[in-house]
Amino acid sequence: MPFEWTLNPYMGCAHRCTFCYVRAFEQRAERPADDRYGRSIRVKTNVVQVLRAELARSSWQGKLVLMGGATDPYQPAEGRYRLTRGCIEALSERRNPFSIITRGPMVIRDVDVLAEASRRARVSVSLSIPTLEDAVWRVTEPGTAHPRQRLRAVRVLADAGIRVGVALAPIIPGISDRPGPLMDAIRAARDAGASRLWTELLYLKPGTREHFLDTLAAAWPAEAERLAAMYAKAAYRPKPVNREHVETVAAMARTAPRRASAPPHIEPEPPRLAVQLGLAFNDYLAEAQ
Ligand code: SF4
Repeated sequence: MPFEWTLNPYMGCAHRCTFCYVRAFEQRAERPADDRYGRSIRVKTNVVQVLRAELARSSWQGKLVLMGGATDPYQPAEGRYRLTRGCIEALSERRNPFSIITRGPMVIRDVDVLAEASRRARVSVSLSIPTLEDAVWRVTEPGTAHPRQRLRAVRVLADAGIRVGVALAPIIPGISDRPGPLMDAIRAARDAGASRLWTELLYLKPGTREHFLDTLAAAWPAEAERLAAMYAKAAYRPKPVNREHVETVAAMARTAPRRASAPPHIEPEPPRLAVQLGLAFNDYLAEAQ
């Protein structure tokens, strides 16, 4: 992982994706990982205060923080609690770099604070959109907004100058990796303004595996049987298979033009005080010479 710190204002996720790797964590913590997962969530109501205190510590080194690594920061509860928004404001005040990963188009509500944070530190947002196919979306991501709504969110963020990418993840072998639909998703992501594309194949750890295969069996029994055999011995596809998938997506992405009309990304401005101090120091040097 290219980061050391993650922040999740919620525990549990009402999006209830069947492939969600958090189900495996839940099972390890002896909480339900089956269809009950995401039916109720826990809300860290004081997360913003705690974050402000942590960021104010002299030992804090201002490292990148990833929001949404374990649960979605823009799941429905965020509409009421606004904790993700509060965390963005707290990180922005400290000029702390951060990234957000989400399947929630609600992220566009915070375009104002994201733009302001982008002027102060390196900020990026990724929308996870593994497929545009309605049937696959309905079966595998039952609590999420339609993929096209997520693409609209990518467009709004790109239009605001916010660095935004699309995670084509997870890709389900034999279901969402067919070249036609995969290319459609890549083209749509680029057309919406995604500057970065990222992908990975499905992996199934205990806790996730059972629920994913059970749900799939109810919709597509033959596919469930095929995938059960494919993942019988290991949670991950073999490394060469993963590498081939990433290279295939990269090759496809090279043929999908980036959106020409997207404005440039907002770049962080130097802190005003530091600029003033720098100027004062230059004045001092000039006088001393
Ligand atoms: S949105 Fe992310 S965290 Fe939430 S259920 Fe889906 S995969 Fe899991």
